[in-house]
Amino acid sequence: MANIKATSEVIESSFEQVSTPWLTPFYQQLQQTYQQGRFAHGLLFTGSAGIGKYKLAQQLAQYLLCTNKQHDDACFECHSCKLFSAHNHLDYHFLVAEKNKSIGIDQVRLLTEKLNERPQLGNNKVVLIKGAEQLTEAAANALLKTLEEPQGDSYLILLARTHHQLMPTLLSRLQQTHLHSPDDQTLINWLYKLGYQVSDLGVLRWFQNSPLALLNHLKALQQDASLDTRRQCVEGVFNMLYQPQQLFSFSRLLANDAEQNLLLLFHLLHDTHKLKLNTEQLNQDAIYYFALPQLQLWQAQLSFKSLRMLSQEILKTRSLLTEHNALKKELLISALLIKIKNEFKETHYVS
Ligand SMILES: [Zn+2]
Repeated sequence: MANIKATSEVIESSFEQVSTPWLTPFYQQLQQTYQQGRFAHGLLFTGSAGIGKYKLAQQLAQYLLCTNKQHDDACFECHSCKLFSAHNHLDYHFLVAEKNKSIGIDQVRLLTEKLNERPQLGNNKVVLIKGAEQLTEAAANALLKTLEEPQGDSYLILLARTHHQLMPTLLSRLQQTHLHSPDDQTLINWLYKLGYQVSDLGVLRWFQNSPLALLNHLKALQQDASLDTRRQCVEGVFNMLYQPQQLFSFSRLLANDAEQNLLLLFHLLHDTHKLKLNTEQLNQDAIYYFALPQLQLWQAQLSFKSLRMLSQEILKTRSLLTEHNALKKELLISALLIKIKNEFKETHYVS
């Protein structure tokens, strides 16, 4: 295993024991193709974050490297499988971009050199590149060369959210598969088996039905750290309504971990919306149940129209932040908070 190990891999390793049944048919199909000798040397899996691309790729890598393949999976017992499970396989190379950085030609050259060597254990070698959209043009070209002249049984697996940012020349040499999210019922059942009861389809939509992203979120909600942030969200909104200068310190707070924090802010409006639909109560499993009295007041100060509009605005801001890292997050979030504040004000005066 290459010595390049990213924190994202460490985080995702917590999902190692989680089953991903929505990907099983495709995994089986891949194995059949391999057994029939029709397996492509370059594969690209696309799909939203949390769909399980990385887990699938790892499963496949272990299968390709296993020296005692079973009819429907790796054996998990041979020397190769054991090394793979211990993240210590010499014929498996993993590459991922550091946050907000690209994957450069030097990193790719190190890999291609490895691919030109004889495999150390079995017959196959596997390279997995996560976040392939981060490959620089030069790095992609270096990869192309490898794909054009495959050295024996080398397999290259690339992962990306979409194929749009990959070079067309690279794309044309890869067999691409887009992984789809499971439907609502499959997802709800899967979460239920893991001990999470989700009845709110809005939450599924927010994560575009991406199972692992949802699971990660639900796990975080269970932790006290998330409760602290939720409390800070309620306090932040409260403070900025009555003390305008507080708005900027609130936006600084949210910008800290913007992706997650905007999600919690979204949930705040989402729960307020639910409460407005049924002013008597909020389910006990609601994310902001602890702030029920405050939300009671706010739902009366916000119209349905405002709540819908603001939820969209949060979504929009959140996607802007992830697509354009260079943009000043705090400024964008401040603009969002001003919109939220203004909606409160207007409805407040009307009522
Ligand atoms: Zn094995």
